Amino acid sequence: MKQVVVSLHDVARVHGEGEAAVHALRGVSLQVASGELVAVMGPSGSGKSTLLNLAGGLDRPTGGTVTVEGVDLATVKDLAALRRRSVGYVFQDLNLIPSLTAAENVMLPRELDGVRAHDARRGALEVLGQVGLAHVADRFPDEISGGQRQRVAIARSLVGERRLILADEPTGALDTPTGDEILELLRSRCEAGAAVLLVTHESRYAGWADRVVFLRDGLIADTTAAPVESAR
Ligand code: ADP
Ligand code: MG
Repeated sequence: MKQVVVSLHDVARVHGEGEAAVHALRGVSLQVASGELVAVMGPSGSGKSTLLNLAGGLDRPTGGTVTVEGVDLATVKDLAALRRRSVGYVFQDLNLIPSLTAAENVMLPRELDGVRAHDARRGALEVLGQVGLAHVADRFPDEISGGQRQRVAIARSLVGERRLILADEPTGALDTPTGDEILELLRSRCEAGAAVLLVTHESRYAGWADRVVFLRDGLIADTTAAPVESAR
């Protein structure tokens, strides 16, 4: 049996209180195993980003349990350290640091984790090479194209062999070939043993997934096999 990397059990997230309470998630249960790519789809406001934030320990649930690699996140004091070690996150707005080069952006989480600069840089260059960006490693984010920035953000999530990759619309405004390249990268990380949760609006990209989870109003409305076989 495949090893479960992330497990959400009856997870809820309420923002605010009383009349003003917003129920972003209302009781979601989901497991993603090593080697699995699960796409999350659903209308705007349905809870997709909330689900990813909770799965990666960027936010804490108001109900239920989130477990990453067998560890209940509620028991973890230093969530930032666990995230740097186990979780690769591709943010919707990328969050690259403009004053750091591509390589430095990718190195940063490893350096924060105590990896020596020399080794962190070597690892960063390796993964930048894998995403086809070796030649722009020493350029700053505003000196490269949007698609390249997106791939830098992906590289940062892949460095250090993290086991859980959470990607919130990583294909954003990319053209189709570039978007497909991103999916290929995520898919190959799956084959190497990672578990991937991918938020996407496009069924084309969801076609790369093993499973598609549809969220509606903070609940899983439906789970299916990937809808588009032809994309693969
Ligand atoms: P999606 O990513 O599917 O568009 P989100 O997870 O961002 O949806 O948001 C789900 C719901 O939770 C929305 O109604 C949103 O307005 C609300 N929400 C998200 N974050 C907060 C917050 N920090 N405070 C209040 N409401 C929030
Ligand atoms: Mg969102």
